[in-house]
Amino acid sequence: MRILLVEDDELLGSGVSDALEFARHAHEWVRDGKLALALAQDGDFDLIILDLGLPGMDGFEVLRRLREGGSQTAVLILSARDGARDRVAGLNLGADDYLIKPFELDELLARLNALERRRMGVASNRISLGRLSLDLSTHTVSLDGQEVTMLRREFMLLRKLLELPSQILSRGQLEAAVYGFEGDIESNSIDVHVFHLRKKLYPEVIKTIRGVGYQLDPALKDNQPNEVKQT
Ligand code: CA
Repeated sequence: MRILLVEDDELLGSGVSDALEFARHAHEWVRDGKLALALAQDGDFDLIILDLGLPGMDGFEVLRRLREGGSQTAVLILSARDGARDRVAGLNLGADDYLIKPFELDELLARLNALERRRMGVASNRISLGRLSLDLSTHTVSLDGQEVTMLRREFMLLRKLLELPSQILSRGQLEAAVYGFEGDIESNSIDVHVFHLRKKLYPEVIKTIRGVGYQLDPALKDNQPNEVKQT
């Protein structure tokens, strides 16, 4: 997922940032509410992890303005405020989940997985499509039941393709999913990952649609008691 992390506490922010890196989520970390709102309104995020006590603008206000503007991006609130009133207020403003500090990073990652499952319309962490299966929590991939070792970015690329299995994704969409907000990306880096995935899995697992982008092998969807719902 592409995640916007909004947290002004350096120690906590860097812990969460490391956890997101570990869980193979492309993310950007900002420490100010106003900047967060501008980025969230602008950027193409799948999820926002939002602290409440922030310089610039309160997290509640960020959320309120986002929802007023019609944003449907999932929001998980991180807060030291443990009163039920705050929790209810956050959820009523349109937050999707709420985690009270201090929390275990494992719990945060589990909740992110739950939000990702909801977004993808699947019930378990294991997403299966035909011969292929990918586990959101263990970051493993199997083909015909055999685990195939994946590098981090290969996993991220495959997860993005599995998220939208019938769509053709442009190079830009894949770069955003794999590199997030990193600046200099080699122009052929997606091709390199696709090349390796074809070698590790099978040659037709990713189709190149000339001039448009890439698509997951449509044959994977045949004979499939399919967990991945099409949107
Ligand atoms: Ca704070």
